Amino acid sequence: MALLELDDVSKAFGSLKAVDGVSFKVEAGEIFGIAGPNGSGKSTLFNIITGIPFGPDRGSIRFDGNAINGKSGHAIAGLGLARTFQRETSFDGLTVFENALIGASYGKQEKTAATARNAAAEALEFVGLGSASFGRLAGELSVFERKCLMLATAIAMQPRMLLLDEPASSLTKPEIETSIGLIRRTAGRGITILLIEHVLTFLMSLSQHLLVLNNGRILAAGDPAGVIADPHVIEAYLGT
Ligand code: ADP
Ligand code: MG
Repeated sequence: MALLELDDVSKAFGSLKAVDGVSFKVEAGEIFGIAGPNGSGKSTLFNIITGIPFGPDRGSIRFDGNAINGKSGHAIAGLGLARTFQRETSFDGLTVFENALIGASYGKQEKTAATARNAAAEALEFVGLGSASFGRLAGELSVFERKCLMLATAIAMQPRMLLLDEPASSLTKPEIETSIGLIRRTAGRGITILLIEHVLTFLMSLSQHLLVLNNGRILAAGDPAGVIADPHVIEAYLGT
């Protein structure tokens, strides 16, 4: 059984079909990439999977055997599905450690205060925000550090699956390399990853399966090498 399964899922904003009849499956343990030009519906797809801030208009979404379409974002996160956002999101007036602790307190397993603190500290160390960073205010971090903090906060939830929305956007080349390594190591912890990225080469080096969206619909899906050679995909990317 697939860990995540979407069947004919759609979401419209007025007359705009942002996500239009999308179906795919993600197997446990894989890194599954979603590409597509700007405005093709990638972030909307993440929103409707996680219920943050809204679910789909129609279609079915199953996670780990549970129907999750129509459930609240809180309930979905509680099943072990965590996400990051395209724009770095953190509580800027709280410290690095306090941000990660919010993630740790939010996850699937009930934790004692000490266990939650350990999970927060471990996740921060894992992304490279060592103990010297714990007391810094999130609002004072660099873009890259903020992305690392957002990832650590999600990892501290100890999710089964993590949805990453454009983790490489606004990063320098060396930061992108670090970020690729970090995503691989995150998958190595046994977390299944659904990864959105505008830059195809980033997805190529990470994903076992690749899906390309255009105007809310699936343009191509399958093994990454085949997908990027697809004439429809080349045309969609050249057209932007
Ligand atoms: P991507 O992440 O692929 O760049 P989005 O999912 O953000 O694309 O957007 C897909 C389309 O839906 C775009 O045309 C965008 O303007 C529109 N859209 C996204 N969110 C909203 C919203 N909350 N209200 C109205 N339109 C939206
Ligand atoms: Mg987006």
